[in-house]
Amino acid sequence: MGTIVIDSYRCSGCATCTEMCPEVFVLNPFTEKAELISSDQEVTDAVRQAAAFCPEKCIVIVEGEETDI
Ligand code: SF4
Repeated sequence: MGTIVIDSYRCSGCATCTEMCPEVFVLNPFTEKAELISSDQEVTDAVRQAAAFCPEKCIVIVEGEETDI
């Protein structure tokens, strides 16, 4: 399990993630920033790879379930 978070402030719109993982990431044509196609995405190996290759390191994978404290 995990949650994908994109820091859109740091995103340069390079489209690496959308090319590597087009079923998860999409470029917003207005902001030219990457977004998730759906907020409820599975963290696959392709997502982890896209996060690793993001030049701005702005794709963050938060592991585990959210816990109530
Ligand atoms: S790889 Fe990173 S910097 Fe490039 S578009 Fe995706 S989130 Fe933005």
